Amino acid sequence: MFKNLINLFFPPVCVGCHSFLGSNENVICTVCRHNIPLTNHHKSSENEAFKKFYGRIPVEYTSALFYFHKKGIVQELIHNLKYKKQEKIGTVLGNWYADDLKNLAIIQSVDEIIPVPLHKRKLKERGYNQLTNFGLTLSTQLKIPYNPNLLVRNIYSKTQSRKSFLNRSEGIDTIFDVTFTEKNHNKHFLLIDDVLTTGSTLEACSHALLKIPGAKISIVCMAMAHS
Ligand SMILES: [Zn+2]
Repeated sequence: MFKNLINLFFPPVCVGCHSFLGSNENVICTVCRHNIPLTNHHKSSENEAFKKFYGRIPVEYTSALFYFHKKGIVQELIHNLKYKKQEKIGTVLGNWYADDLKNLAIIQSVDEIIPVPLHKRKLKERGYNQLTNFGLTLSTQLKIPYNPNLLVRNIYSKTQSRKSFLNRSEGIDTIFDVTFTEKNHNKHFLLIDDVLTTGSTLEACSHALLKIPGAKISIVCMAMAHS
């Protein structure tokens, strides 16, 4: 009732094109849904996201749901998710991707879903990790436990831009820490992130996770930068 009243005065609009949403639409309209550039990575394990990590870290499986273009629908989605408190976008994308991923044997062998963590100061500033709803929805739909506490980010960077990240002298092995006991051994971890660009953040996370004996890594992202 209250929600209907709010919708009467502030009707929800599509994140992609800002047109009013119909009652059966959530976050993005049907037109934008059809126009969104899909990677279809899940149809081939030797996809371009997977190849990004060749010679860097051993990955079992890697994929991204969408292509990310500057000024495109996907950029709008990610921007609203990260900076405009539109956390429900993560739920929509989680449900969308779970449909593609649920029948893959490699995904069925995953033991835990691990989000790229924010530094605790960043988490306080933003108020939420933009990966939480995406990860929790994948967790529910794929029936795989969600573990946001295994990895910790040690280094705070204000912009988290690629440049400042790569210019750091600390080296990638100090950015993330992992705290584990024997019960974490021999697990297949699915790392999740928003946009895959150079892959350096995910590489650093993987380095930390691979300190756990018997660890295997897979990676799933919401989007991948298209070059
Ligand atoms: Zn739209």
